[in-house]
Amino acid sequence: KGKAKKAAKSIDKKIERAAVLGAGIMGGGIAYQSAYKGTPIVMKDINNKALDLGLSTAADILGKQVERGRLNAKKMASVLNNITPSLNYDSIKDTDIVVEAVVENPNVKASVLKEVEGFVSDRAIIASNTSTISIDLLAESVNRPERFCGMHFFNPVHKMPLVEVIRGKDTSDETIASVVAYAASMGKSPIVVNDCPGFYINRVLFPYLAGFSQLVLEGADIATVDKVMEKDFGWPMGPAYLLDVVGLDTANHCTHVMADGFPTRMAQIDNDPISLLVNDSRYGQKNGVGFYEYS
Ligand code: NAD
Repeated sequence: KGKAKKAAKSIDKKIERAAVLGAGIMGGGIAYQSAYKGTPIVMKDINNKALDLGLSTAADILGKQVERGRLNAKKMASVLNNITPSLNYDSIKDTDIVVEAVVENPNVKASVLKEVEGFVSDRAIIASNTSTISIDLLAESVNRPERFCGMHFFNPVHKMPLVEVIRGKDTSDETIASVVAYAASMGKSPIVVNDCPGFYINRVLFPYLAGFSQLVLEGADIATVDKVMEKDFGWPMGPAYLLDVVGLDTANHCTHVMADGFPTRMAQIDNDPISLLVNDSRYGQKNGVGFYEYS
């Protein structure tokens, strides 16, 4: 209780308006969750189709709740009203926080971070939803590293309680406190972690997924591995299905960042099955085919 009070005191700016860059699997989910819990959010992408998909995903989640009698149509309309889709930065100048959720590529993230800082006030917080890329590395692209940190949600955002708030070497206590408070206002369970490739969850998860890739190369049957992990070992999903949910293009970027960061823990695999599938344009559930096919 005492700690929460102290943290609340150090918040210099309550997050009342937010923006998310990227309307993909994660950006769409973050927009939905922020809007659902009452913080209006601008959802910016470079692609109109992605914006439509982000909005329709939010509408689908809400529609299911209406069907189940957990939500009325008025609330559904007000949540959707809280999400402003945009193809440009014009509508983000008054936001208190911008959550960057574009593709997991350090160069793309660096250019987006450099770009966005010019459109928000000096007091705005910029946070990255990167899965694996070091926050200190990304902080090199911003002029105000004290107002920059990681805000790492998990997929699917509306169901997964955890949010990792990642402190870079220059991140201020006030920034951490504001982001923790924003995550809590979204109904999430934030934890503050130090910076390293993969932070906490992916530092543990990606070596496991690399072990799975190694098994596939040694001839393991994918469906059997998944079945054993799910039905017999009791995990919610096996590694192949999980990778399809995450998106193989994203997982491929993450694998490389993790292999660079932890070469002894991440077996450097030639012909990694994840990258072979990506080369074959199999990105997982997002485009209907990955380790499995989806209709
Ligand atoms: P995605 O491929 O579904 O979506 C990425 C979106 O970014 C696309 O809509 C693309 O059009 C958009 N984009 C690309 N360049 C842009 C730019 N310059 N400005 C605005 N939008 C741009 O990817 P995703 O799975 O949502 O991943 C996004 C981020 O979230 C990555 O950093 C990823 O590592 C992280 N993440 C992903 C997961 C997951 O399970 N997929 C989980 C946690 C974190």
